[in-house]
Amino acid sequence: MLAIRKLARGVANVAVEELPAPVAGPEEVVAEVDSAGICGTDLHIYLDEFETAPPVTIGHEFSGRIVEVGKSVRDWQPGERVTAGTYFSTCGHCRPCREGRPNLCPERQSIGSKRDGAFARFIVLPAKNLYRVPDEVDLESAALTEPLACTVHGILSVAKVQAGDNVAITGPGPIGLLALQLAKVAGATVAMVGTDVDHERLELAKELGADHTVDVTGSSNLQTLVQDLFHAEGADLVVECSGAGPAADTLLRLVRRGGRFCQMGLFGRPINWNQDLVCYKELTVTGTNASVASAWPRALKLMAEGRIQVRQLVTHRFSLTAWDQALKVAQMKQGVKILLKPTADF
Ligand SMILES: [Zn+2]
Ligand SMILES: [Zn+2]
Repeated sequence: MLAIRKLARGVANVAVEELPAPVAGPEEVVAEVDSAGICGTDLHIYLDEFETAPPVTIGHEFSGRIVEVGKSVRDWQPGERVTAGTYFSTCGHCRPCREGRPNLCPERQSIGSKRDGAFARFIVLPAKNLYRVPDEVDLESAALTEPLACTVHGILSVAKVQAGDNVAITGPGPIGLLALQLAKVAGATVAMVGTDVDHERLELAKELGADHTVDVTGSSNLQTLVQDLFHAEGADLVVECSGAGPAADTLLRLVRRGGRFCQMGLFGRPINWNQDLVCYKELTVTGTNASVASAWPRALKLMAEGRIQVRQLVTHRFSLTAWDQALKVAQMKQGVKILLKPTADF
């Protein structure tokens, strides 16, 4: 089978390779990948800004159908439509693992970075990681379960958005657009903040329910801007989803005194921001890292009930052999979610 692999650490070192199809161990299944999304993390992996254990097949957001079931696996049959949690293994005995926070395990081995991932026709998965895709959810949408689960964890559990909150979000990419929808479902008023490269994405944010969309390029007085938007002294909660340093600084100015700041995007390097504002405004600052298991059934339910729209986020589809073109589109932020389709005919 073809697979997109990180072959060695260092910038790039990514190529398509021919590999033997994998075989399921006793507690594992093999799934045939229907759709696999390109994530910001994959771009960081390409640039070597994210830890990997090469050679390894990349890709961690996917959906597919079970094709083989290991001999000790119960409850799962070939043909079932599935997606899966991304932690192939965690140590199980470190403090975060014991506290039910396996996303923080230092020994975590995730698919797509330390274990073979979803940019291939077939993927091996521990059966305990599987989730059934509800009938109401098509497989392309189901490939967005992972980013939605990360956002459910970040927005609902970590940032704890509440009804009546004024929320400002930077970065109208897939995570930002999911965060926007979750904040709306939770009863917040939301401003999606972007720059002059984001006009189409800001339009989409409007369609997906943003109360306000703002292009902050060249705005000198952000304080007035947010006061005008929310008719308040600032946002109660700001969420940084772009992974761009200037966006973090923008949000420090948009958040009200005594407000909350949540970081979801990865910068890939240290950034410059005026951290004194954290003190002066007495902010509560949180970060969020991947997802926990409790976020997955919620993500699938929110999609099945149509409360969160993911279909509009899928803007591009590519074959595995066109992976470099797909990566370029993702890098240039031309679309929103770009899917690789290992079995489709293009
Ligand atoms: Zn991802
Ligand atoms: Zn652990």
